[in-house]
This record gives sequence, C-alpha cells and structure tokens, in this order.
Amino acid sequence: MKELSQKDKEFLLDSIRCIKDFPKPGIVFRDITTLLNNAEAFNFLMDHLVERYKDFDIDFIAGIESRGFIFAAALAARLRIPFVPIRKPKKLPYITISQKYSLEYGVDEVQMHIDAFKHKEGAKVILIDDLIATGGTAKASVELITQANAICVEACFLIDLKELKGSEALRPLTKIYSILEI
Ligand code: AMP
Repeated sequence: MKELSQKDKEFLLDSIRCIKDFPKPGIVFRDITTLLNNAEAFNFLMDHLVERYKDFDIDFIAGIESRGFIFAAALAARLRIPFVPIRKPKKLPYITISQKYSLEYGVDEVQMHIDAFKHKEGAKVILIDDLIATGGTAKASVELITQANAICVEACFLIDLKELKGSEALRPLTKIYSILEI
C-alpha cells in the first residue's frame, strides 16, 4: 500500500482553504471546496483512497453528512461497492435507525436506513468523513454501524484536528486512517 510522502500531503493541504472565524469566532474552518475545485488534487486524493481500499474486501462505504458524502460516494463508485449515507435526523425518507451523541450544549443524532447494509450480518464497512474534530459525529456513526450488526473496519478522514483528540476517543471503537494531521 503506497504511503503518501510529506510532499504529497503538503500538496493536498495547500489545496484546502482555511477560513478564520467561521461559522463562529475562534474556529478555523477547513474548506474542502477548493480541493474539490482542483481536479488534480481531487483525483490525486481519490487515487490514493482507491489504492488503499481496493484490497480491503469491504462490503459498503458509508459517508457522513454532508462533506463525507462527496469522498465516500466517489470512492464507492470507483470501487464498485455500494454507498450508504449517514445523515442528520429527519432527512432519510424510509425507516431509520438512530444514534444520539452529546454536544457541548445538548444532543445531536445520526441516522441510517434500516436496510442500508441489506441486512447482511457482519457486513464490512469503511466510514468516511472530511474531518474529525472532537470525534462525536464519527463515534456515533461507528455505533450506528455496529447497531446495524455490521463492522466498521476503518474510519477514514481527510483531516484530523489532533488537538481536539477526536481520534483518541474513536480509537477504542475502530481503526483510523487520517490522511492529513493538523
Ligand atoms: P466532530 O463531531 O467534533 O468530530 O466534528 C466533525 C464534523 O464537523 C465533521 O463532519 C466536519 O465536517 C465538521 N467540522 C468540525 N470542525 C470543522 C472545521 N474546523 N472545519 C471544517 N469542518 C469541521
């Protein structure tokens, strides 16, 4: 499996725009629309993900709403594996299963269609999102996959904001692959 060099990582990182104080003061928002808008960077990333996961023997690629959908769906299409969306509440039209998680203030929830893994016991799933911060969304998503009697083989993030310790919190639940650590 080809590892990315420091130069490769810098190329990807340079393609991501930083927006200070968005959506609120103190947050540096990592804007991946500039990576998507750069065909060379987007394809370089997708080629790397295909190379990593092509021999993993996976049944499904799950993506977390909403930016996770972009990478997860593109990878699923390239690998010819079914794609599963993990969404915020009340977005999915059919019967759903849910997993709640705590925020700094209050609770949030992720949902998935009950038949998303086609009721395949022990289905092997790769979970993808653009970024892991506190890890709350990713942790709830792995728990949702487990609740559906599937196995999250690995959770993959384009960006890992290390100081928020999300990957540390997630590690007891699944393997993690973070492409860029900040
Ligand atoms: P968390 O549950 O705290 O790990 O937050 C992860 C989710 O929030 C991901 O779906 C990200 O897309 C989004 N997110 C959190 N912080 C940022 C940030 N600094 N820049 C861009 N997206 C972020």
